[in-house]
Amino acid sequence: MKFFLSFKKELYNLVLKKKKIEKMYDQNNIFAKILRGEIPYKKVYEDKFVLAFHDINPQAKIHVLVIPKGAYVDLNDFSKNAKNDEIAGLIRGLGEVAKILNIAEAGYRYLGNNGKDGGQEVPHLHFHIFGGEKLGKMISK
Ligand code: 5GP
Repeated sequence: MKFFLSFKKELYNLVLKKKKIEKMYDQNNIFAKILRGEIPYKKVYEDKFVLAFHDINPQAKIHVLVIPKGAYVDLNDFSKNAKNDEIAGLIRGLGEVAKILNIAEAGYRYLGNNGKDGGQEVPHLHFHIFGGEKLGKMISK
């Protein structure tokens, strides 16, 4: 009986955990749709861990988004829940994209908006890569 009750509690906790994760990540966000190939995008690079594509509304001569293939809302989620190879894959992906865009030597900016105060609009972790010109100050007030 004791075993049965503790098993039931474990099961209940697992269901709650799954619900929490499902609630956090919106499967219908625009980048999830891009990853599923449901909407068009201009691909720059893809590997096992990341997809990179041109931003639809570029803020610099070059403006590319690099996203992990896993379902992570933001850096809080990713840094807590992603596996080490996913984390390494994202950073390597960023470096690879800079090389492909031919901006690695001249310099570029990689930027991530996180949450409400960070101005994050799409709830799937992404890094912006800006380049192809002098980018000016880091933050405008
Ligand atoms: P955030 O503000 O969340 O950091 O950046 C979201 C970025 O996604 C914005 O720069 C926006 O232009 C870009 N974006 C939004 N919708 C689409 C889309 O459908 N396709 C592409 N390629 N970029 C998008």
